[in-house]
Amino acid sequence: MEEKNFIPLSVPNFSGKEKEYVNDAVVSEWVSTGGSLVPKFEQLIADYVKTDRAVACNSGSSGLHLAMMMAGVGAGHEVLAPTLTFIAAVNPIRYAGAQPIFIGCDDSLCISPERVSEYLQSHAELKDGKCINKSTSAWIKAMVVVHVFGNLADMPALMQIAKQWNLIVIEDSTEALGTYYTEGVYAGKFAGTIGDVGVYSFNGNKIITTGSGGMVVSNHPEWAEHAKHLSTQAKSDELNYKHDEVGYNYRLTNLQAALGVAQMEQLEGFIQHKIEMYNFYFNALNGKNHYRILPFREGTRSNHWFYSLLVEDEHPLSRDEIIQALQKEKIQTRPIWALIQDQADYDKNERYGDELAYYYLNRIVNLPCSTNLTKEDAQRVVDTLLSL
Ligand SMILES: *Cc1c(COP(=O)(O)O)cnc(C)c1O
Repeated sequence: MEEKNFIPLSVPNFSGKEKEYVNDAVVSEWVSTGGSLVPKFEQLIADYVKTDRAVACNSGSSGLHLAMMMAGVGAGHEVLAPTLTFIAAVNPIRYAGAQPIFIGCDDSLCISPERVSEYLQSHAELKDGKCINKSTSAWIKAMVVVHVFGNLADMPALMQIAKQWNLIVIEDSTEALGTYYTEGVYAGKFAGTIGDVGVYSFNGNKIITTGSGGMVVSNHPEWAEHAKHLSTQAKSDELNYKHDEVGYNYRLTNLQAALGVAQMEQLEGFIQHKIEMYNFYFNALNGKNHYRILPFREGTRSNHWFYSLLVEDEHPLSRDEIIQALQKEKIQTRPIWALIQDQADYDKNERYGDELAYYYLNRIVNLPCSTNLTKEDAQRVVDTLLSL
């Protein structure tokens, strides 16, 4: 019998000009943080998401740390954040010396505007234009919104709440490059460009990759320049090595940018493939054998980065048994993240409205979704799932 191939969850796709551009960078000897490809990659992203300035950095995590500093989040502040997300969305709040307040999700898996609003109405008050937590007296300065799996959070509602409570909005768009609104007040607006700061990631599992990398965008031009400054050791005088604040070496290299430039040429094609394979899974699995394929928000063009299979309670197998059964068939899947509020070092933080987060936490499996996933492989995933 023919040996079955391994079907990975999400792997890079280097079928464009990656080798050519990386080779050019090596031949030119511009392999470190200088060179023309970093500014070129920044401009490609800025043009694509229709913003004036994009600042490259060496990971989505460092981009989110820069975002906290751009927003002036510091010691003693508090920041509203989703509990159902990857921990890198929340750790930068702590890097900045602030504390997260965890809020549950809505059916989009993103932070729930209803829960945020209820929390603020019952726990906070506006004092001299500052949103103050009545129980800790701390200034709740910002809100982190994560566009989970490439699905847009409810930005019209969240932005309205942010305006009412004077909150800075940081969009963790690390999973959502290419997602935008097609309808409503934000029609044409990309994930990451609606709030005050947006961050993209180019980690190996993201929709495009530079191995590791990130990009920060902002509607405040001086904030973007501040991010660039902080990412380059806050050097204020090149020749005499003067630094006007505590900076970081968070720069992207020209070698990584070479990958990024080549990947950007393929991004729209990757998204079309993701949408096609999503529709394939949806038609084959949704409503069958106690499975649901979770939808992406209406009125948006999502990048369809990750596909969520929801296993209903009536299914004879548990979610984790399904993951194991797929693994036996050499199909790699994974459960959605454990809640951040239950992680070490976060279990004493305030939390509110997490019922749906616990519901989804126990029922979601992410299916193989690489941009080079074939119909045959997706069919094998479907056949295996329907046989369980
Ligand atoms: C990937 C990811 C990050 C971090 O990006 P890195 O480039 O891996 O540092 C942050 N938040 C979320 C939600 C992510 O999925």
